[in-house]
Amino acid sequence: MTDTPGSVDSDEEELRPTRVEVDLDVLTANLRSIRDHVGQARVMAILKANAYGHGLVPVACHMVRQGVDSIGLALLEEAVLLRRAGVEVPILVFGGITVKQMPQFLDHGLTLTAPSVEKLRFIDAAAAARGVQARVHLKVDTGMERIGIHYYSARQLLEASLTCRHVIVEGIYSHFANADSADLGHARLQLERFLEVLSFYDSRSLPMPVRHIANSAGILQMPESHLDMVRPGILLYGVYPSDECVRAVNVSPALTWKSRVAYFKVVQPGHPVSYGSTWQSDRPVRVITIPAGYGDGYFRSLSNRSEVIVRGRRFPVVGRVCMDQMMVCLEQGTAYNGDEVILLGQGDGDQGGISAADLATWAGTIPYEVLTSINTRVPRVYRGG
Ligand SMILES: *Cc1c(COP(=O)(O)O)cnc(C)c1O
Repeated sequence: MTDTPGSVDSDEEELRPTRVEVDLDVLTANLRSIRDHVGQARVMAILKANAYGHGLVPVACHMVRQGVDSIGLALLEEAVLLRRAGVEVPILVFGGITVKQMPQFLDHGLTLTAPSVEKLRFIDAAAAARGVQARVHLKVDTGMERIGIHYYSARQLLEASLTCRHVIVEGIYSHFANADSADLGHARLQLERFLEVLSFYDSRSLPMPVRHIANSAGILQMPESHLDMVRPGILLYGVYPSDECVRAVNVSPALTWKSRVAYFKVVQPGHPVSYGSTWQSDRPVRVITIPAGYGDGYFRSLSNRSEVIVRGRRFPVVGRVCMDQMMVCLEQGTAYNGDEVILLGQGDGDQGGISAADLATWAGTIPYEVLTSINTRVPRVYRGG
């Protein structure tokens, strides 16, 4: 029952020493900080990619208990999973839609993204055929070139939406490409373009749909972008989008990735460690083996680069990270089989924690990829809530 919030099942730990612990109270505090910062704007919790690795269903249920206004997801199947788990709040799916997906969207009462006139008409027709009203957010591309109608042709989509009798346009949104950088020039341009598109409603005295554009970076760096609703993803989990980003909201990481020492030995000089023999010592050293590897999402590119925390101290990963195991050199340090090892998160010692940003830097990627790469084979356990 590792999916049940509030319970840490010890049997699970006897089965699998590697696990992710999610502190639901930290998620609550992060949500509160974001709410305090955005004032009147509603909050759509972004839970795509298994809630950034934190576990989709338990995190969604917790967010609903905390009163989030809605949930944003990338994929239809994530949304269906939440409906089946009893989540009833509005769920917006960001991704493009295909004809075959329409019945599922409508039957589960999900909110669709309409990124073009063609797709909007086809949502309208599908809803008409089923005798229902489809809830839709129009998607305007203001400078990301991913999905959405270009801002310079958006009027067509807005006009078309007025003629669709089986579509309720609840919202209209866009997405920032560069709101996490120190230079906000492009983000400001995107916001300007979005506001210009929205002037359509005022100029026709039409009711304004819910306007939203701010991701975590927009929340932090551009208060003028909060509009009617914000869409925090990474910030909700207590991680900042980039090093350049202003840290205008105080959040803490909710996730800790742990394992335990599975083997201890002394490695002699001239005896290289792991595949490819990429590391060896010039004197006898103590080396431990940890039962986690790239099959769990601990990147192979962390080989000979990253550190873990054992007994409050940081030690380097040596040799190549294997699929299911990796080695750590303790030099002359001590550890026993079964000792806790922190791969990501705050340790008990005074040497600080290992952040998603640390792992990202070592692996040459971004914190988002570190979190979302933690494989589903790693059990998630929940504290607090
Ligand atoms: C992922 C995503 C977000 C959240 O982004 P963060 O940088 O994690 O806050 C918001 N909106 C859309 C459309 C997204 O795809």
